[in-house]
Amino acid sequence: MAQQLPIQQIRNIGIIAHIDAGKTTVTERVLYYTGKTYKIGEVHEGTAVMDWMAQERERGITITAAATTSFWSTKLQPAKYQINIIDTPGHIDFTAEVQRSLRVLDGAVVVFDGVAGVEPQSETVWHQADKFNVPRICFINKLDRIGADFEKSLNSILERLTARAVAMQIPIGLEERFEGIIDLLKNKEIRWTNEDGSKYDEKEISAERKAEVAKWRSKSIEKIVEQDDQLLHKYLSGENIEYEDLIKILRTATISGKIVPVFCGSALKNKGVQLLLDAVVHFLPSPIDIPPVKGYAPDNSETELERKADHNEPLCALAFKIASDPFVGTLTFFRVYSGVLKTGTALRNSTRAESERIGRIVRMHAQHREELTEVCAGDIAAAVGLKNTSTGDTLCDPMHQIVLEALSFPDPVISVAIEPKTKADLEKMGIALNKLAQEDPTFKTKTDIQTSQTIISGMGELHLEIIVDRMKREFNVQVAVGKPEVAYKETINKTCEVEGKYIRQTGGRGQYGHVRLKLEPLEKGAGFEFVNKIKGGKIPAEYIPWVEKGVKNAMEKGVLAGYPMVDIRSTLFDGSYHEVDSSNIAFQNAGRIALQDGARKADPTLLEPIMRLEVIVWEEFMGDVLGDLNSKRAKILNMTDRGKNKVIDSEVPLAEMFDYATILRSLTSGRASFTMEFSHYAEVPYNVREQILNGKIKKE
Ligand code: GDP
Repeated sequence: MAQQLPIQQIRNIGIIAHIDAGKTTVTERVLYYTGKTYKIGEVHEGTAVMDWMAQERERGITITAAATTSFWSTKLQPAKYQINIIDTPGHIDFTAEVQRSLRVLDGAVVVFDGVAGVEPQSETVWHQADKFNVPRICFINKLDRIGADFEKSLNSILERLTARAVAMQIPIGLEERFEGIIDLLKNKEIRWTNEDGSKYDEKEISAERKAEVAKWRSKSIEKIVEQDDQLLHKYLSGENIEYEDLIKILRTATISGKIVPVFCGSALKNKGVQLLLDAVVHFLPSPIDIPPVKGYAPDNSETELERKADHNEPLCALAFKIASDPFVGTLTFFRVYSGVLKTGTALRNSTRAESERIGRIVRMHAQHREELTEVCAGDIAAAVGLKNTSTGDTLCDPMHQIVLEALSFPDPVISVAIEPKTKADLEKMGIALNKLAQEDPTFKTKTDIQTSQTIISGMGELHLEIIVDRMKREFNVQVAVGKPEVAYKETINKTCEVEGKYIRQTGGRGQYGHVRLKLEPLEKGAGFEFVNKIKGGKIPAEYIPWVEKGVKNAMEKGVLAGYPMVDIRSTLFDGSYHEVDSSNIAFQNAGRIALQDGARKADPTLLEPIMRLEVIVWEEFMGDVLGDLNSKRAKILNMTDRGKNKVIDSEVPLAEMFDYATILRSLTSGRASFTMEFSHYAEVPYNVREQILNGKIKKE
């Protein structure tokens, strides 16, 4: 059995970055130094997303596992620390994935490209991390690259992300002359003495650097001592501040988000990653440094419950990722927030009100899987072969139930039809799609009843492209892909009352269902509500769920163009029944008829997904980009300068954004980049709506 370290010695961290900043290389170096079990691999040149996917896969389980465990000790803190690295995706189309990893990690290392500094996606991820209050440290990578500029990168963090960033290190030399790092707190020069960067020397600051280092050092130290009155006093009276004291204050300030320490190096050249690991241990929180997890009782969402990160509390755990593993099958990654999860015990899946039993638990290391019999509070592992548990579900002690706040995933906003290229592809396609959908809650798949086509849906064009690529590479399934379609929705604008009757009297036993409903529009994103206000048994209680079922089924196909209806409250307030002829089916039909009729009367309308778009463009092309955005119904929210570039922040309907990468490239001769993510649903303007409805054959 694996030994469980004291909870203070656990770090659950994510390494987050803009794609290409070096997340994979940093992760790989971390696994190398902590395990020293395999050869340092190298990512070759190539920036396309698909290349990156392929490369990642070639490196096997190490990088792609949802959580990989490694161990580290520092000179200052020689105890054994367990670092669980939670995988975070590099591309913005996977916002939901980023969010769910942020939810289960306690701290993050944010990696930046030392040439480009802060990039648009780093900003998005940074703001998400703010939302989840994730304490962070920064690593400015690639200082060996031509054009690397530590100070400029640090300034871009200070200006665009946080004024709380404080330099812990500065580089000695840059680009091909990048030879080492100055540790500002220790006031030492650090140089690596062997090829793989596992050994280094610490030396006094050389005479020619003394003045510059002193300037940087006093700036950083001032920001640290400001956090503690006693230290500040000592500092101001000219006393020496102990290194250990600085580290202690920095830890508290990093965990509370008052300081974001900044480190630097070159992962590729094996410089700086070990010191970064020291920083993870010294500054990022352990599970007891963060607030207790919150949830509610399964039968009462009003009662808030709390669980402390303590082995003696009742068990609660969150399943945060389902992955298929080629060797052991389905793996459900979970984080234990409180108590101890043991194999062979009966658990409750409180989200689904079902029982669950865990037979096997594994911990993923860089090079092997370790079998565990128990996992304690604060730790992360994976269960093998769970039947009833999906992403976002809570597992808990059946005697002390709690439902943790669910992970929320947006519905897909874009769909395409796919068709298998050969009969062999057809046979494997279903399995591939099911596996992919199980892993990724923002990816959905269905069969169109009318055309028998398979439709896949996701969060953006790129998301679906990657799915199709994975089908080919991982499952050997080739498909032809149709034109992308926007996932419109329907709703109502007015309140109305409506009657639904399903009455058939054709000899023998008849059918009798009769309901009166009030339909009301709800705010955007509220979904569907059903309220029962039947009094005095006008409709017997047993039929009410059937009315609700009928209403719900009818919502799946809107009255304008067959898109799903959302954001409607239906209140059942009256109706009647027949002693002999009434049945479940009759009431279900009455509910359906009432909803359909009512929706027609209640000013039905079409909703479309709106994307948040950021375009970064050279000034001379700004006019062309703006002109094009205006023709795309964009709402310009903000225009700012970023160095020599202009940044246009806007909201644009997804329907206008197909193939935007190509359009933008040709408009600007490649002098622009953009990021786009789903923002919200909004009503389609009347003239556009007519075009959509006319161009589209009604689905019914
Ligand atoms: P990710 O997309 O963030 O995971 O980035 P990768 O780790 O795949 O790195 C992207 C590219 O940058 C690859 O070609 C790496 O070899 C390269 N790279 C990563 N770290 C460094 C570094 O420190 N210096 C240099 N020069 N290149 C690096």
